[in-house]
Amino acid sequence: MTTDCIFCKILRKEIPSAKIFENDKFYAFLDISPVNFGHAIIITKEHTETMITAKSSILREIMPVAKKIAIAIMKYHKADGFNLCINNCKAAGQLVPHLHIHIIPRFEADSVTIDKQKTKRYLPGEMEKLAVKIKEVVDSV
Ligand code: AMP
Ligand code: ZN
Repeated sequence: MTTDCIFCKILRKEIPSAKIFENDKFYAFLDISPVNFGHAIIITKEHTETMITAKSSILREIMPVAKKIAIAIMKYHKADGFNLCINNCKAAGQLVPHLHIHIIPRFEADSVTIDKQKTKRYLPGEMEKLAVKIKEVVDSV
């Protein structure tokens, strides 16, 4: 873990997060600035910046977690699809230099572009309530 990293702070509970999943290697929560509601992020518990610096074993192990969360999000939101996205380095739009996967629920004709300028806003408390409901589905998958 590093001192300044926002996601390491989330792991240390210095910053709150709307948790939806946790195991010994990964932690998942809802993105505070979602492209669509239910937009989730999976982070590695061990700080590493990108796919390049990550151990290959971590990359292998994160995919089944992404699948589990994608199934739950699809099920909960009755989504028609989802995007899985990893931004690597600043030039590719990576704002938080701690490896993470975005999982974004998608709907037919939702006219979403994976564009940070067009994110949605949760009402106060809404993200936390949604996380509890999605977590129930994640635990059942
Ligand atoms: P990236 O651009 O791939 O580094 O994405 C970082 C994501 O982290 C952005 O979509 C942010 O909205 C999200 N984010 C940053 N801080 C928080 C936070 N405290 N809780 C939840 N999501 C966050
Ligand atoms: Zn970190």
